[in-house]
Amino acid sequence: KLIYTLPFCTIQQAASAGTGEPLQGHINPMLQLANLLYSKGFNITILHTNFNAPKISNFPHFTFISILDNERFSNLSILDFAQSFIFKQDGGDDLRDQLELLLASGKDEPVSCLITDALWHFTQSVADSLNLPRLVVRTTSLYTTIVYASIPLLDDRGYFKLDDTHLEEQVGEFPLLKVKDILKMGIKSKKDPYAELIGDMVKQTKASSGIIWNSFKELEETELERVPHDFPAPRFLIPFPKYFTASSSSLLDQDRTFFPWLDQQPPKSVVYVSFGSISQVEEKELLEIAHGLVYSKQAFLWVVRPGFVNGSTWLESLPNGFPGERGRVVKWAPQQEVLAHEAIGAFWTHSGWNSTLESVCEGVAMICSPLLGDQPLNARYMSDVSRVGVCLENGFQREEISSVIRRVMVDEEGKEIRERMRVLKQKLDVSLMKGGSSNESMESLIHFISSFQV
Ligand code: UDP
Repeated sequence: KLIYTLPFCTIQQAASAGTGEPLQGHINPMLQLANLLYSKGFNITILHTNFNAPKISNFPHFTFISILDNERFSNLSILDFAQSFIFKQDGGDDLRDQLELLLASGKDEPVSCLITDALWHFTQSVADSLNLPRLVVRTTSLYTTIVYASIPLLDDRGYFKLDDTHLEEQVGEFPLLKVKDILKMGIKSKKDPYAELIGDMVKQTKASSGIIWNSFKELEETELERVPHDFPAPRFLIPFPKYFTASSSSLLDQDRTFFPWLDQQPPKSVVYVSFGSISQVEEKELLEIAHGLVYSKQAFLWVVRPGFVNGSTWLESLPNGFPGERGRVVKWAPQQEVLAHEAIGAFWTHSGWNSTLESVCEGVAMICSPLLGDQPLNARYMSDVSRVGVCLENGFQREEISSVIRRVMVDEEGKEIRERMRVLKQKLDVSLMKGGSSNESMESLIHFISSFQV
């Protein structure tokens, strides 16, 4: 059987169009799942675009077919491309043509289904027109899925228009959240292009044949009970990083030169700091982060992606002598390997969902600095529901940064957080065993895909 997966390799974050942000948060889980399905005996063909194309040589076991590199698209700027392809769905015809060819040529090994990132919502109508089941990969949490489905309601209740005096208030419909969490999502009204994209994504996820979340039951038990009302398709919760790390799908070169230094650090003594593949900060925020790290007097390993600082190439705005002996700064790291290192005591993260889950998979307590999109929801969930992290509540301010780092790394509170994280990781590990929830979910996904008769 063949599975056709389509990683979300096309769009570069519209706001930073042209800078080539690698959007790892979508590419990684798609390829982790592809590896997992391949290991279970499925053949994989990946349709991808030339923007952010995966490193094909890392996946000799997959067939890669490049789509959408014809005249019509190659003449567009990245921003136009992203807007026309994602927001106006122009890519559907090209995708359909390619799929038709594959369906016609796949007599010996029939195509089972199409698996796509939820953001590629228009692929549902393509799949429907070819009578091909479409499975959706949701690269974020169940909780985010539920909140995203309620954006029109939140807008109708006026939440997106509230001013700064309401930031600390609770959101009635989602008591876990504060108003500032919702405002940080970056939506001003349900009519925003971004909110409309989310609306289409939600609609076509509901219409899909099945939904796969990069998560696990024990992490989001309550949410699992709430999802069925809205999303009737069969659901699968599989923690991808427990099966395959995201290393091979990294589009940036990973620095490994710091490992000898890390090996020499005492257990649980280093803060690993990384804010993902697309977020950006201002120069003054970079300085606050640097000072906060120094003030905390803890050892640190900090990933500063080129392009992370708006208007700077890399570290030129940091004071001479930084980071000093106590820290290391790199451009990109093999993140999961770092998190698994015994010297790491905490992960200061932007709370992207992949980073969050990788931290749970490796049992590392979190310090959460959400910046946009689903990140504030993930951060609030980790700090207030799972209680395995602490949120930086006021953006980047050196005093708060150093005090939160010390709370997690040095204080009694940190020990309690680490203990809760140890228990959560243990639940996750048990879920992978025979009869465990993640294992059963994976088995039922394989059974489900095998049942498709195309
Ligand atoms: N990542 C990495 N090296 C780094 C920083 C990040 O490999 O130095 C990976 C990380 O392991 C994760 C992905 O990039 O799989 C980031 O995804 P996430 O959802 O956390 O954030 P996004 O990039 O989508 O904001």
